[in-house]
Amino acid sequence: MKWISHHTHSIFCDGSHDPVEYVKTAIDKNFSTLAFSSHAPLPFKNSFALHKDKVDEYCSTIRSLSYEYAGRIEIYLSMEIDFIPELSDDFEFWKKRAGLDFVIGGVHLLPSPSGNGLWFIDGPIRNTFDEGFFNLFGGDARLAVRTYFEQINMMAETQAPDIIAHFDKIKMHNQERFFSVEDDWYLSLLRESLEVIAKKGCIVEINTRGIYKARCNELFPNLKALKIIKELNIPVTLSSDAHAPEDLDKEYPLALEVIRAAGIKELMVFSFGKWKAMGI
Ligand SMILES: [Zn+2]
Ligand SMILES: [Zn+2]
Repeated sequence: MKWISHHTHSIFCDGSHDPVEYVKTAIDKNFSTLAFSSHAPLPFKNSFALHKDKVDEYCSTIRSLSYEYAGRIEIYLSMEIDFIPELSDDFEFWKKRAGLDFVIGGVHLLPSPSGNGLWFIDGPIRNTFDEGFFNLFGGDARLAVRTYFEQINMMAETQAPDIIAHFDKIKMHNQERFFSVEDDWYLSLLRESLEVIAKKGCIVEINTRGIYKARCNELFPNLKALKIIKELNIPVTLSSDAHAPEDLDKEYPLALEVIRAAGIKELMVFSFGKWKAMGI
């Protein structure tokens, strides 16, 4: 089967290589479709997002590759846009400004309830997660998890991105320490959030990065969540969230096994302006 990924980071944000290197590797690895998704510019200083002065160069680089490699692989232009209530730009702004083929929405930064900072739940360092959890959320796991899923819900409701990135990423650095992904209250927040996503018609991505970076021992989202996704008829796609060319197909065979175990039989693929279902 041909591989796909709609979620890729290059040198334009926090990825390691020029986009062309990912394209060459994707062709070698038998991909039919590869989309680039730099982190959209943010309204504060940071080390991981695309700089707003580089947006035009990013777009023209990806578009040139799509023409250059036409017939060998489909290349698309996207951004992974952070949703931060009252802080991030409307997704529509970046979609128009950059002429994106589609939009990926993600939650990585959570405003604290007292408004005194943002909790960064992602990244390579578990200690950053722990510091934010205690300093900004008082070590209250239910409050922290509820804030995360409510932010996802608000993103789906107000921004309706095509794809929801790494849906249950809040579990990554937790590693079953402050809460369990098996807790009833956790599962009911997760289900509620999937019900909102189902209503808005967003695609949920199945993201392998947590596993191959050894930050998490299961997919985003895990098998239990995938079974709810199947029950609610939510469309899914598969992405590696690659930050280097060699990441592109990492843990894909495993992901396919888990997706099939959940009873899911199709993946959504973007092709020439439309989302299409591909049997697996
Ligand atoms: Zn992300
Ligand atoms: Zn990403």
